[in-house]
Amino acid sequence: MARLLEGKPVAERIKEEIKAEVAALSRKPVLASIIVGQNPGAQSYVKSQKKAAEALGIEYTLHELAEGMAEQELCDFIGTLNADKNVNGIIIQMPLPPHIDYKKASGFILPGKDAEGMHPANIGNMLFGKARIVPCTPAAVMELLKESAIDLNGKDTVIVGHSEIVGKPLALLLLDKFATVSVCHIGTSRAGKLQEHVSRAEVLIVAVGKAGLIKGEWVREGAVVIDVGINRVGDKIVGDVEFETAQARASCITPVPGGVGPLTVTMLMRNLLEAAKLQR
Ligand code: NDP
Repeated sequence: MARLLEGKPVAERIKEEIKAEVAALSRKPVLASIIVGQNPGAQSYVKSQKKAAEALGIEYTLHELAEGMAEQELCDFIGTLNADKNVNGIIIQMPLPPHIDYKKASGFILPGKDAEGMHPANIGNMLFGKARIVPCTPAAVMELLKESAIDLNGKDTVIVGHSEIVGKPLALLLLDKFATVSVCHIGTSRAGKLQEHVSRAEVLIVAVGKAGLIKGEWVREGAVVIDVGINRVGDKIVGDVEFETAQARASCITPVPGGVGPLTVTMLMRNLLEAAKLQR
């Protein structure tokens, strides 16, 4: 029976480290959060980010902008936050209204103030193994892998899902640890090869958003399984991996909820701290 890789205790430990470093700074770091329009999903992210920031001694300033604002106005607003020496990090809440292109707007954030780690320059630094600000969910996965105590060197590591926010940046972080990385996606499934790849994974990371996509019996005996997926099924939240059958075969597995999720917001705060240190 696999050991559970729970995110909360790992998050608590990292939060203590962040808190101590924040306390040692000469002034409180500031995370500026931009929300455009009234979206309940975005409001709920803001609430949890604010709570997490304040518990660590980070100031969270919320900028609520009008739904109808033009894309250029948002970019100009980001420009004022970039120029403001009191602002250390910036995050744009999703979703944005359909007339605003997230990539264009977020590209205006200075790389050194990019709290989400998604600016092309920060992604580029990952390629060179030099990133200090990294995308939050991949960073959370790496922390959980550290917790599993597995040495990634040479391990057959399979990622399912190649999104820009999870699968692709995660592949770079894993390569940096000398894992042997395969990235599966819809093309792998269409070719009928998903099971084949999953079954040889010593480390399996799934980030798709389809409940039960990965059958428990596909999981290799003793594998480390990180399930990033979040799916609502009836009144329950489940991952992408069939949990009970996978748990019977794996050595370590993340629960959903309670695995990657609790760490993601902590990684955002760690990025903010890194940004503040880089700006000193
Ligand atoms: P995306 O929809 O952006 O990406 C999903 C990926 O899965 C795509 O690469 C897609 O390929 C691939 N895919 C879809 N269907 C299949 C299939 N049948 N077989 C193999 N691959 C497939 O999602 P995200 O990366 O944003 O999120 C993935 C999941 O992780 C979601 O459930 C999300 O809620 C969760 N999540 C959880 C976080 C956390 O903190 N715990 C944070 C971020 C996300 P293609 O694009 O080619 O179709």
